Amino acid sequence: MADQYTMQDPTTQYPGPDESFEQQQEGPGLQQEMAPKPDSGESSYRGSGRLEGRKAVVTGADSGIGRATAIAYAREGADVVLSYLPAEEEADAREVVELVEQAGRRAVAVPGDVTDKAYCEQLIATAVAELGGIDILANIAGKQQHCPDILQLSDEQFDETYKTNVYAMFWLCKAAVPHLPPGSAIINTSSIQGYQPAPILLDYASTKYAINGFSKSLAAQLAPKGIRVNVVAPGPVWTPLQVVGGQPPEKLPEFGASEAPMGRPGQPAEMAPAYVFLASQESSYVSGETLAATGGMPTP
Ligand code: NAD
Ligand code: MG
Repeated sequence: MADQYTMQDPTTQYPGPDESFEQQQEGPGLQQEMAPKPDSGESSYRGSGRLEGRKAVVTGADSGIGRATAIAYAREGADVVLSYLPAEEEADAREVVELVEQAGRRAVAVPGDVTDKAYCEQLIATAVAELGGIDILANIAGKQQHCPDILQLSDEQFDETYKTNVYAMFWLCKAAVPHLPPGSAIINTSSIQGYQPAPILLDYASTKYAINGFSKSLAAQLAPKGIRVNVVAPGPVWTPLQVVGGQPPEKLPEFGASEAPMGRPGQPAEMAPAYVFLASQESSYVSGETLAATGGMPTP
């Protein structure tokens, strides 16, 4: 049983990809319909009071990396506001609400579309009203659709990718900052694609470069207020994002195998500890930093 506490060889901690990874769903996809199912730490993540009494907003909290982060935050003692797409993702989100409540914390589900500025503002306002404030903002929602040729990349997709990955982060940070007390943390989500852009991910990869720059600038701007801004840059991670058009389906049986020196894809449960560290007071002197969890793929 893979967990984050038993010392073991990380190359074999989780299985490598095989033919069973080849699958497709309509976007945004459901984690509960994936097989093999990603590990978001549901039965492994153990809290140790690192975020006691904290108030967190997590976007993309229904599945994948956001789900793992929401579970970890709750088990570390935080109340969590969960953002995800209504209707399509409700089934995954229900499970996360239950897991947060089982951890003895408050879960407030606020589904909506982060490409809508009014929703982003309402999400923060609801968090402040329901939790009595906010001191962690984890921007994890993201859109990735592969496209091999700039001539086939539609304005609509380019716009949606930027709205989801970049504009939503801007709107959410802007809405949150007036409410964030000193000691608060913003954590944005980049990618190995923000350092090594794949030719088939022109729009997506370039949003991740934007996220890197935005986060370093905002970190410098907010440091005097005692608000830290950091980034997690995942490598290839087994999540719904990849089976709804993030990768060409025929590439999935090798997902993470050749590009990551670890020889396998990462699991969401292996990302959550980075989001916990950057949210907690343990990282009090860390801001404008990127924590890469890439299975050994080098970043600058
Ligand atoms: P995921 O599909 O589980 O999570 C993405 C989430 O984004 C969805 O669950 C959905 O709730 C949310 N989302 C997308 N569009 C939205 C919209 N318009 N409104 C509201 N919510 C919306 O996949 P994941 O891999 O866990 O992705 C989480 C983050 O990790 C993304 O930012 C992604 O770019 C990043 N990332 C993933 C990988 C990987 O290999 N899986 C690698 C690097 C970075
Ligand atoms: Mg989802």
